[in-house]
Amino acid sequence: MKRDYYEVLGVQRDADLQQIKRAYRKLAREHHPDVNQCDPECEEKFKEATEAYEVLCDSEKRGVYDAYGHEGLRRRGAGGGGGFGFDDFPGFSDLFENLFGSFGGGAFAGGGPFAATRPMGPARGDDLAVEAQLTLEDAAFGVEKEITFKAQGTCPTCEGAGTTDPSSVESCSQCGGLGRVRTVRRTMLGQFVQTGPCPHCVGLGQVIKSPCKECRGEGRVLAERKVTVQIPAGIDAGQRIRVSGRGGAGERGARSGDLYVRVRVEPHELFERQGDDILYGVQLTMVQAALGAILTIPTLDGDTEVEFAAGTQPGETKVLRGKGVPRLNGHGRGDQEIQITVLIPHDLDEEHRQLLRDFDDALTEEQYAPKAEGVLHKLRNLFNG
Ligand SMILES: [Zn+2]
Ligand SMILES: [Zn+2]
Repeated sequence: MKRDYYEVLGVQRDADLQQIKRAYRKLAREHHPDVNQCDPECEEKFKEATEAYEVLCDSEKRGVYDAYGHEGLRRRGAGGGGGFGFDDFPGFSDLFENLFGSFGGGAFAGGGPFAATRPMGPARGDDLAVEAQLTLEDAAFGVEKEITFKAQGTCPTCEGAGTTDPSSVESCSQCGGLGRVRTVRRTMLGQFVQTGPCPHCVGLGQVIKSPCKECRGEGRVLAERKVTVQIPAGIDAGQRIRVSGRGGAGERGARSGDLYVRVRVEPHELFERQGDDILYGVQLTMVQAALGAILTIPTLDGDTEVEFAAGTQPGETKVLRGKGVPRLNGHGRGDQEIQITVLIPHDLDEEHRQLLRDFDDALTEEQYAPKAEGVLHKLRNLFNG
C-alpha cells in the first residue's frame, strides 16, 4: 500500500543527493498544497514526496530503508524514541533547511504567529572532495598542481545569472520576493505556524520569465572543472588542503562550496618517508665496511658524497641532518637516515677461501669485539676474567 520512495520521487535507486533534491523540488513545485488549493490529492502527493525525500536525503535513514524497507523505518521510529513522525504534517522546515540552506524554521506557536527573520536565497554550492596524486618530491617541496574533476560550475552562457535577459527577472509575486511563505495549520492542540520556502520561486524570491536554456535558470551546469592548487611543502599522504570557494558553484551566483584536496603520495623507488625523515638503505661490501668507503648517496637535494668509517657494522645507521622533508610549518627540515646492510660474498673459489683463512688467522679476537658497547664489554670481561 505504501509506495516505494524511489518510485515516488521518480529516481533510480543509486541516485545521488543532487538528483534526489532536484526530483523533490520539481514535485514540491507541482504538488505543494499552497499552490494547488484546488486538489485534495495534491496535499497527499506532497506529503508522500516529502516523506520520501526526508528519508532518501538522510544517508542513515536511506541505509535503513534500502536494507529493510518501510518496515525498517517504522520499527526504528517506534523503538528509538526519535521517530520520524510522518503521520503529522510533514516538518518541512527541517527539510527545506537541507534543501535551500539555513533559514528561520517553523515553530509550534500555540496561536502566536511565527516570524522568520532571515532572508532566503539561492543555494550555496556543494563542498567537494578530490584527490591529488603527488610524487614524494612534490609533497616534500610543494608544487602547483592542476586538478581536473567533474562538478557544478558557473553556467558559461548566462555567467551564473540564470538568464541572459536581466529584464526577465521579476520579484516573486507569491511571496513578495521574500522567498518564504507562512502556513498555518489548525489542530486540536492549537495552531501550527510554519515558515517554509515559497513553492512558487522555490525560496529564491525571484522568478525568471525566460530562463537560460543551458542551465534552465539554475545558473550552474555540471562540467569538467580545472583548479590549480598550491600544494605546500611538507604535506604528507592523507592530509587535506581546503581551497575556499572552489567547490561546486552556487545556484544563480550564490557562494560556491569549498574544495577539499586529499593528498596521495606515490611510492618512491629509493626513499621511504617517515614523518619528516627520509629513510634510505645502502649496501656496503664486507671489504668496504671493514676498510671504510666514500659512496655517492642520493638525497632529496641530489647526490652527495658520504663517508662510511672503517669498521662500519651491519644495521648501523648514518644520519644526514637536514636532508629530510621540509616541515609543513615552514621551520626546518627532517633528516635522512641511511640504513646500512653489509654484503658477504658467496661462491668463493679455493684461492679466495685461502685468502680469507690467512686473513682470519692474522686477526686477533679483539678486532671483532663490538665497539658500540665498549664499556659494557670491558665490564663483562672484568667479571669473567
Ligand atoms: Zn545559464
Ligand atoms: Zn516566491
